[in-house]
Amino acid sequence: MASTSTIPALPVADALYDRALGHLPGGNSRTTLFVAPHPPYATSGRGHVLRDADGREVIDLQNNYTSLIHGHAHPEVTEAAARALHAGASFGLPTEHEIELAELLSQRVAIADRWRFANSGTEAVMVAIRLARAVTGRDAILRFEGCYHGSADAVVQHGARGVPQGVKDDVVTVPVGDEAALVAALDAHGDRLACVVFDAMPNRAGLRPADPAFVTLLRTETARRGILLLWDEVLTFRAGLGGLQGQYGVEPDITTLGKIIGGGLPVGAIGGRAEIMDAFDPRRDDAVGHGGTFSANPVTLAAGTTAMRLLDATAIDRLNALGDALRERLAAQGWTVTGQGSLLRVHVPDATALWWRLWAKGVLISVNGLLCLSTPMDEDTTAAVADAFESLDQE
Ligand code: PMP
Repeated sequence: MASTSTIPALPVADALYDRALGHLPGGNSRTTLFVAPHPPYATSGRGHVLRDADGREVIDLQNNYTSLIHGHAHPEVTEAAARALHAGASFGLPTEHEIELAELLSQRVAIADRWRFANSGTEAVMVAIRLARAVTGRDAILRFEGCYHGSADAVVQHGARGVPQGVKDDVVTVPVGDEAALVAALDAHGDRLACVVFDAMPNRAGLRPADPAFVTLLRTETARRGILLLWDEVLTFRAGLGGLQGQYGVEPDITTLGKIIGGGLPVGAIGGRAEIMDAFDPRRDDAVGHGGTFSANPVTLAAGTTAMRLLDATAIDRLNALGDALRERLAAQGWTVTGQGSLLRVHVPDATALWWRLWAKGVLISVNGLLCLSTPMDEDTTAAVADAFESLDQE
């Protein structure tokens, strides 16, 4: 934990946390946001600046775990969401918004001409696994060690409490990037595997882009065994117009999106080719069920469509160049930094200490060392971030 001298006084947050402890286990609702002794509280944000309840303004490189690609309260995204909200928060009928976002995503994701919308990346992965099981008639899945795909039973980390043995029995785990272990596992379990769940740059496993040769092997070896490749692009879709899968030039069978495609509101999506996705077609007697009171919520989808239109190729290229330059500058200062483009991860032995030291300098990152850029940032912003890191070195 950070020494208390690096933690700024947070009288308002302390009081809020005391109140929270009486009603929320550990004082909040998201395990992934906790930083000891307790996090500050956010009150508002504009562009790349977040303001906390104690009045501190910080450069936000956390961006709600990378989902705020246009930063906070982008005027056009906010306007789109507000317009949709004024027309009615949600309906028990479909709306044109889901058609619009599906059309836009189909133009960008080569393999996906059909989409289903959900409320989170977790839900998207969960439903995509159900789809893979239904289509293949197989129960097991293969995943890679240490990678995060949300909190559904089948994909939480090895040994997680509360996961039934029956679920664990159907999960095969292979070390990240290990070709021999992958082929051995496919040889041993191939005929019972519905899908391989894959993230080409998994944050929790270090945010290192997969070796293209590994990805090609994965595609070839799954295809020849009739195993679906589920490419989880929830975190990495910001990498390019067609996400990371577009860069690798490999065609998965199913993909999951989330985060940036909701304009900052709760979202998840499952995409794929018609012959797979049409398993959801409710006109079929054997349709795979997928509902959700708030799935394809019009406010989310209106905000998301606007956010995605604003994120054109020029915006992505600019953001990636800015991220690459920041990574180089931090590396030159001696930090171990991984990632690609606008996603960066700083590796330190004590991530909590780094978190508080940066907070004290006016920079917000994720508690696991993940940083991401947003379109309101420019060279001045990343220079300020690099200066904050540099000043830590000299402390
Ligand atoms: N898959 C990946 C690769 C993710 O990074 C995340 C979230 N960090 C998820 C799935 C789960 O998404 P959500 O938090 O929206 O449930």
